[in-house]
Amino acid sequence: MHLHNNLSKNILAWYDNNQRTLPWRVSKKSTKKLYYRLLSEFMLQQTQVKTVIPYFKAFLLNFPTLKSLSLSSEKKVLKLWEGLGYYRRARNLLSTTKILVNKNNSKLSKNLIDIKKLPGIGDYTANALLAFIHDQPTIALDGNVKRVFSRVLNKNEKKIDFKKLIEINRKNLFQIKRNSDFVEALMEFGALVCKPKEPECPSCDIKNMCKYFKSDKKFKQTKTSKTKVKNYNIFCYIDKMRSKIALTKKHNLGFLNKFYLPPVKEVNGHNKIKNWNYHSNFKISISNKKLNINLYYKFSLKIPSNHQWFSLKINNEFIPSFTKKIFKKISKIN
Ligand code: SF4
Repeated sequence: MHLHNNLSKNILAWYDNNQRTLPWRVSKKSTKKLYYRLLSEFMLQQTQVKTVIPYFKAFLLNFPTLKSLSLSSEKKVLKLWEGLGYYRRARNLLSTTKILVNKNNSKLSKNLIDIKKLPGIGDYTANALLAFIHDQPTIALDGNVKRVFSRVLNKNEKKIDFKKLIEINRKNLFQIKRNSDFVEALMEFGALVCKPKEPECPSCDIKNMCKYFKSDKKFKQTKTSKTKVKNYNIFCYIDKMRSKIALTKKHNLGFLNKFYLPPVKEVNGHNKIKNWNYHSNFKISISNKKLNINLYYKFSLKIPSNHQWFSLKINNEFIPSFTKKIFKKISKIN
């Protein structure tokens, strides 16, 4: 489990020459550091950099400071988050900014356990923030970082005790005393060079210290198990004259809990439903889940209880992208 003495030096040297310019990478002394890092870390959970950048910029236009975000309504934050998915992150971000501003004097604790008590902050994000904000010698273990270590050791990730690995190699890993940069460099290196598929081994700056590159017997990565597809029927009550659809927050699609959807029912297979018109079938992947949807509709002037009418065209209210997809399909009915 010993890493090469010069691993961190070489990865940092690579980073100094190859890092991307990203809007949340501000100077270490910047007063914006905490806000920018917090916002970007929440947005980057399960989401790619290129998707996050326009949302990050839009948030800064609307909320230039941590304090201004903390004073916002949930409705406004969700509306701006619309399309980025995993909406629980938006709610947790808002709660975290409120706690930091109102209880912590807009400062982040230097204690890992305290940081992990903030809403929506797990082990990875807490360690990333400790490094970015306080330059502490810690490593944020995301998928990119685990892959780099796993390849350098030529060992399956499942067989590595990463915490132990960091402890054993602590002295070498943090020898340069640029802890914040090193966390960033490792993630960047995993994203751009030691990529999940087709790593750039021939031109890699650490290939001489990489057992995966040098070995004739390369380890096999465990295949991720396939996500089970679930079947759902979705029922749309439509007021055709006014181009409206009935939505409810009382549905059983847990991961879109508290958001407006048409009524949804999980089913075993596809059977004809009495008194409903069948519209179409579509498949969608959302929040790590795979859904097989059968869409039904009926025209109705009466609204069921616990439902509200929404326009199929423009709404000021936050509507999840999933619901908007249904709007698009239903709007085409003649
Ligand atoms: S040589 Fe290849 S596998 Fe090894 S660290 Fe570099 S890119 Fe990754």
